[in-house]
Amino acid sequence: MKSKPDLKFSELIADYKSYMDNKSDTRLLKKAWDFAKLAHTGQKRLTGVPYVNHPLETAKILTSWKLDAATIAAGLLHDTVEDGGATEEDLIKEFGIEISQLVAGVTKVSNVKLRGSKDQEFVENLRKMSLAMAKDLRVVLVKLADRMHNMRTLYAIPKEKQERIARETLEVFAPLAERLGMGEVKAKLDDLAFPYVYQEKYKLVKKESLIHYKKAEETIKTMKRAILRRAAELEVKVRVNGRKKHLYSLWLKLERPEISWDFEKIHDIVALRVLVDSVAECYTALGVIHNLYKPVPHLGVSDFIAQPKPNGYQSIHTKVFGPKGKIVEVQIRTYEMHESAEYGIASHWAYSQAKSRGISGELLENRGVAVDSEKLSWVKQLADWQKELADSEEFLRAVKFDALSHRNFVFSPLGDVYNLPKGSTPVDFAYAVHTQLGSYIKGVKVDGKVVPLDFKLRSGQVVEIIKSKSSHPPRSDWLKFVVTTTARKEINKYLRNLRIKE
Ligand code: MN
Repeated sequence: MKSKPDLKFSELIADYKSYMDNKSDTRLLKKAWDFAKLAHTGQKRLTGVPYVNHPLETAKILTSWKLDAATIAAGLLHDTVEDGGATEEDLIKEFGIEISQLVAGVTKVSNVKLRGSKDQEFVENLRKMSLAMAKDLRVVLVKLADRMHNMRTLYAIPKEKQERIARETLEVFAPLAERLGMGEVKAKLDDLAFPYVYQEKYKLVKKESLIHYKKAEETIKTMKRAILRRAAELEVKVRVNGRKKHLYSLWLKLERPEISWDFEKIHDIVALRVLVDSVAECYTALGVIHNLYKPVPHLGVSDFIAQPKPNGYQSIHTKVFGPKGKIVEVQIRTYEMHESAEYGIASHWAYSQAKSRGISGELLENRGVAVDSEKLSWVKQLADWQKELADSEEFLRAVKFDALSHRNFVFSPLGDVYNLPKGSTPVDFAYAVHTQLGSYIKGVKVDGKVVPLDFKLRSGQVVEIIKSKSSHPPRSDWLKFVVTTTARKEINKYLRNLRIKE
């Protein structure tokens, strides 16, 4: 008779086969499973279940992101050396270099304790982490899946550790998932960590929001019926869902000064999500919706299909007057865009894998997303910085402020999007556009109005650098307000050269 974990492993194989049917892959996964069971013999998790349940759940999460067999095998094996009875040599012998390096990478990342460590350690650890990531991004996907399962079972570990781990999830791993375009993963990690880090606020938001979720869901239900009916009349094939806003992001929104806990000002507590087959149908669907419900002036339509967000997010968002004049946000996207928004980098990975294996057919059609090397660029940037910035303090600043802090998205007058950290100024913007542009700043306009050079930019603003005819050196007092590493580096470089010439 099969034990329960074995039953769960059969489910994993079935999940895997649903998107990639390959006999040698399933043999590999079975081998990894047997190896993991052996390595964790007799071990238990603090929840009381056999330890091997944890790597199995980790692997299942990776399968739900539709990843390749090597990554899923690494998920099964990720604790066999660190916490189990296996050695690295065993892994190399049984599974080869690729998988054993993935496991070693995950171990390295796992030993990183970012919260509560001194700055010096923090730097070293981040260095290790980003090195392992830059080598093979799949390391970070395994780590995210591992963290996801650990967060689900966080209740079982000692109280004093809970908060540290949850805070690290909120401050490091959720932003990491966001940067990789994995919106759904980010939101889930946030919500798992929320009650451990801000216990009182969590209770408050949960209690206060209950009635608003309920009301919004009723509105959505009415609208869903109307949209489906009209779409059917016009023979447009749509699927309509309600998307509940995750609790943590709801809380952040409630805390904003312009909202200050007024639920009436939150229009997307439950948003309507309309899924269609093609881009053309997105615009048809938009027409259907505006025909039924008038768009709200000023709030109106954001077309992230024509103009994707820098992390690749695509959708059309429109705010409309729903039943009883209630403002509701509707999000329209194709199935491909949906998948990409949920799994981000993971969906791109699977796509390129399938392509390199010459698999066409359903999988490719389902995804239909081009592999975007741009998405990987910030990881590469991180790796480059490590090489360049020998000085730990400089590296710490670069990473803390550029890579993991929240970002602002600002536009050039031509509509190009620039992704800058919070607190960025027009000077940061100029250097982000081009390292030479910094030497031509005469003035700056934001949304058509002249502003000082140390103006703090906000998302959505259009920034126009007024250029001088000839170049002039950057000023040293700019260093007092620039926040990006690029700007700081370029200004310093210029000043250094100036000194040498003198
Ligand atoms: Mn683990």
